[in-house]
Amino acid sequence: MAATRCMGCLVLRHVPVFRSHGRLAISRGVHQANVVYPFMLGKRWFSSKGWILPEGYDTGITIYNSAVKEKVPLKTLQPGLLTWYSCGPTVYDSAHIGHALAYVKFDIIRRILTKMFDLNVVMLLGVTDIDDKIIRRAQDLGVDFRGITKYYEEEFFTDMDKLRVMRPTVAPRVTEHIPHIISFIEKVIEKKLAYSVSDGSVYFDTVAYGKYGKMVPLPKITDLPKDSLKKNARDFALWKGVKPGEPFWDSPWGHGRPGWHIECSAMASHILGSQIDLHSGGIDLLFPHHENEEAQCCAYHTCDQWCNYWIHAGHLHTKGAEKMSKSLYNTISVSELLEQHSVNSFRLFCLLSHYRNKVDYTPTSMAQANAHLRRIRAFLQDAYAYINGQLKCGPLDEVGLKKKLAETRAKVKKSLADDMDTVRAFDAVLELIALGNKELQTKPQSMSIARSAGTMVSICSYIHYLMEDVFSITFPSVHDAASLSLESGGRLAGVMNSVVSLRHQVRSYALLQDENSAKAVLTTAEKKLRRQERAPLLNYCDEFRSNLQKIGLHIKDHAGTSSWSVGEGSSETDKFKKAKDESATVKS
Ligand SMILES: [Zn+2]
Repeated sequence: MAATRCMGCLVLRHVPVFRSHGRLAISRGVHQANVVYPFMLGKRWFSSKGWILPEGYDTGITIYNSAVKEKVPLKTLQPGLLTWYSCGPTVYDSAHIGHALAYVKFDIIRRILTKMFDLNVVMLLGVTDIDDKIIRRAQDLGVDFRGITKYYEEEFFTDMDKLRVMRPTVAPRVTEHIPHIISFIEKVIEKKLAYSVSDGSVYFDTVAYGKYGKMVPLPKITDLPKDSLKKNARDFALWKGVKPGEPFWDSPWGHGRPGWHIECSAMASHILGSQIDLHSGGIDLLFPHHENEEAQCCAYHTCDQWCNYWIHAGHLHTKGAEKMSKSLYNTISVSELLEQHSVNSFRLFCLLSHYRNKVDYTPTSMAQANAHLRRIRAFLQDAYAYINGQLKCGPLDEVGLKKKLAETRAKVKKSLADDMDTVRAFDAVLELIALGNKELQTKPQSMSIARSAGTMVSICSYIHYLMEDVFSITFPSVHDAASLSLESGGRLAGVMNSVVSLRHQVRSYALLQDENSAKAVLTTAEKKLRRQERAPLLNYCDEFRSNLQKIGLHIKDHAGTSSWSVGEGSSETDKFKKAKDESATVKS
């Protein structure tokens, strides 16, 4: 592959391979800008930490691979296609915002790969529908475990739909893959890397496997309890022999059920084959879950590397508190989250921290996300007012704006190609908006009404593409105002233009703006009196504006003019819609 050879030339120039005491020795890979450049040993490529750069197709992206704790070039096994396995929910309770954060962050990465880097992403999301916690919940409630898992799986996907997390390509359930799990385990036993014990359980033999401990330095070994059926302390269960009162399936080792780790390995291998490009999960899954998945798959497929790239999302914390988790009783469900904040606010909140970092969920951090949303919305509103001819201002610096737009596009793509750095990408968008706002500041109408609508349309179009298509954060578009213009042959837009103009004149009168511009000589006492007399008019203007806002029509006052746009309705409208939906649900 051309790209691989290129990398080889680069590396071999810098990495000396030399013989020492008769053995082949190789220096560490070259580190440049925190990227590990792998090197060649025999016919294969390795990084400094034993990771193998796949022979594949370069995506132009570097990604932090948790298996080596370094950024490495992202190469896919097939051109234009990326296979991704994500550990999914254990469906015994409602998803909380810690889950929401991780899945929204991975959704943003998936959209970046798809929409910005033109990769066809095939994503599997494994659903754990049999597990200790599920069995305990079913026993506590005295119901069949399937009733619980079906309910919470549906709720999980409904929650994810609300958060605009794209559905996975396939969402395999463990209980529907029991035969594949059993045959997977049989093959590992045949290779003498797993063994069955007297209670009907099967364990993975980490000592016989010999390559255990890829992901983290292994914790200190604790002594095996005397009654343990395992051979080695680190061996883990692939199959669990049945205990009284538990659901079970038939197997060559008697009645039992799968262990947690084996399900992801077996389902991913059954659907995606012997090697995958990417695997994701929360950082707490790195060890032992992902270590075990990798070990089982390398054993089953007889390979040194099953998954090429491991990515992990940082946890969500409430300020000063520990990680949010169901076992700590400090969770906020997705429904509770969406009662407080819009999906747009939460998705923007997710963009404002790197996906790998720990995130603090606080009123301040959500207020920051909301302030950014308002900033973008206000800019788009002004830009559309300018494009529609409502907002008149002096000539725009078209050359400067075009240059800034080109720089922003380049900076955003470069930031996202660098381990999905959404924080830097969003900063670039804010800089573009700051320049746009500066240009749109209304100047006296007499100066100029030169039009540079094309440039402003290009900027708005890019912001919509990035924020909506890539990040799935929505804003009212110029089409909303345009559609109002088309309704009733443009009469509605004409009415809006007239009433906004009338309100502007009334407001100017109330604020004594005509007197000021006419340089009328008024004493301070006269001004005060006139303001008092005209104050009710100002109140009517404010009331009129807030009434229109409730139905999604926004009036904005500038120096010397007022503009209008179509946007989101107010919280009262949202409350009405919600109440309407709820009453419809009750009726059905
Ligand atoms: Zn998993």
